[in-house]
Amino acid sequence: MLRQHLVLILISLFITSYQLVNDKTTSADNLFASSNAQELSDRCNANTVMLQAQLGALENSLTDTSDLSFLTALDDFYIQLENSYSVAQLYSNTHPSADIRKQASECQQAIKSLLTDASLSQPIYQQLKQINSSHSDAITQRYHQKLLNDFIRSGVDKDQQSRDTLRQLQIEISDLGQQFSKNIREDVRHITIDDIEQLNGLPQDYIEGLTKNADGQWLITTDYPSIFPFLRYAKNDSKRLAIYKHFLDRGYPKNEILLKNIITKRDQLANHLGYKNYAAYVTEVAMIGSPDNAAAFIDRIATLAKPRSQRDYTQLLEQLQSIDASASNVGSWQKSFLQEQVKKQQYQYDAKAVREYFAYDDVKQGIFKLVGQLFDVEIIAWQTEVWHTTVSAHELRTTSGKTLGYFYLDMHPREGKYKHAAHFGIKTGVLNKQLPVSALICNFPGEDKQLNDSGQRINRGLMEHNQVETFLHEFGHLMHSLIGGHQAWSGLSGIATERDFVEAPSQLLEEWVWDYETLKTFAVNAEGETIPKAMVDKMQRARGFGKGTHIRNQMFYAALSLNYYSSEPDTLDLNETLIRLQQAYSPFDYIHDTHFYANFGHLYGYSARYYTYMWSLVIAADLFSEFEREGLLDPTIAARYRDKVLAPGGSRDAADLVADFLGRPFNYDAFIEQLNAE
Ligand SMILES: [Zn+2]
Repeated sequence: MLRQHLVLILISLFITSYQLVNDKTTSADNLFASSNAQELSDRCNANTVMLQAQLGALENSLTDTSDLSFLTALDDFYIQLENSYSVAQLYSNTHPSADIRKQASECQQAIKSLLTDASLSQPIYQQLKQINSSHSDAITQRYHQKLLNDFIRSGVDKDQQSRDTLRQLQIEISDLGQQFSKNIREDVRHITIDDIEQLNGLPQDYIEGLTKNADGQWLITTDYPSIFPFLRYAKNDSKRLAIYKHFLDRGYPKNEILLKNIITKRDQLANHLGYKNYAAYVTEVAMIGSPDNAAAFIDRIATLAKPRSQRDYTQLLEQLQSIDASASNVGSWQKSFLQEQVKKQQYQYDAKAVREYFAYDDVKQGIFKLVGQLFDVEIIAWQTEVWHTTVSAHELRTTSGKTLGYFYLDMHPREGKYKHAAHFGIKTGVLNKQLPVSALICNFPGEDKQLNDSGQRINRGLMEHNQVETFLHEFGHLMHSLIGGHQAWSGLSGIATERDFVEAPSQLLEEWVWDYETLKTFAVNAEGETIPKAMVDKMQRARGFGKGTHIRNQMFYAALSLNYYSSEPDTLDLNETLIRLQQAYSPFDYIHDTHFYANFGHLYGYSARYYTYMWSLVIAADLFSEFEREGLLDPTIAARYRDKVLAPGGSRDAADLVADFLGRPFNYDAFIEQLNAE
């Protein structure tokens, strides 16, 4: 499966009070108060007019060459733009009302348009150039340089005609991207099951939780809590294939032309800016530096993982042949099922038995406790409005009582909601101006809170172990955002680091889901028994199985993302390229007549940079080696990590932050050691 991610970089609207100084009362923002689309539209329009006026005022303000006040005014403007954009984006992905989602999407476009205007504003650029920041602190100088570079990268120094073209392209790309994402979000497909025999192998609580149609048939949908256990446990191969094909076809055919257009317009944008292609444009400001480096990295990792992948694959095939002697290859719809079978038989690891210990509410409390212990923080209820009854709101503060930020958890699927798992930034924290606010948008079980006569949950919302891992992963982004969100400049605060570093803190945190000392604090079954140590030991032994095939598959996705954005769009055949790269990297064959690219949402959000996950994992493995040596719950090492890697946000290069923590530059050793570990 695709890895979880974080989608957003930019940018709140309908904030009733625009003061940004000493904003300690985030709940007063009235963020979620729009009760209908018209109200939202009115607020959005008023907000846009206000921001436009601010932009005009900025363009007309003259400054002294050494005066930094312009930088401050510009940053304040960006804070408001981003706040507006982020809430619109959140609404368009999560609001229960389809009308409001649609309106929010339009609002997002209006703000994107303003943002593009600002990024191409010559008066602002000229004034920035005049500022002399050489006597300022290093972080201010860094921000000044970054802004100048961002303006150049937007094309501010091009002639009027080119700037008009660039502006148009930016707007069109953003619009296409929103449609692309919407089509994935709203395309939920299903298969029907009319014979209980076809549910053989599935956990009882899962079967009881399934919805039925008017004809009494059970529905298996492409929503994660439905499809993932089905692919893992259902013995019926043809039903697994049927739902998996639907899964690979979400967004198709609509997204084919949209993706083609996104790639084409991004290529044109890059060309106008003097880059060979869009991959060159986006990697230039990433840790990796260039498409060639990214390609070399993908091949290096693919080669490293090959022997292990071949071994994994052989085991999967042998497992399949024990069911079907004539089988000659393993299909991707069979991977999850066979993998569990191998783990069960060879490692005595039973995922179905393990999930009994992961009830959603317990997991949530466990994660709160873990991050509390690691980062010396606590999480308390935050009384504020939310956009849906299942959404919870929380405050993160230090154990000494200082508020670090706020967050929402929107964790269960519903119609029209974002389908993956992601961290959505709502406000970038800025020192003395505003506290960071984020949301985790996920699709986990556990929504049904009904109690039986004895006051116990009827459905405990049992999670797969890898869903618990995803929960922790997203919490990693949240911690980065809230702990790092106290820098003086918005563009350097929170997760505003190089884009290909952002997954590292999340992938690091995933490691705790394998730690018995952590798990025993929250993993409890319906009888109140704590997860047995022997079970966690087996889990750890079985963990390595499938790592090879997983990495090769990830490199297929990474190569696909890089390749689409470095190809000549006129001759790019989306499906042909997908088939070719799947053959080259993935151990599993292409399934005829499926269109995975149509629902590979990262192709918009991450564009050419899906390699980010593996790149960040190399760094995360190195970071984790320090914890392994000192103890996973050792407070000293955790505090050092918090202070040296998370808290600085983007105020220094990510490589420097990591080196500061490690006492040396990061390397591949820990990653390779993990890859080869039995
Ligand atoms: Zn992520």
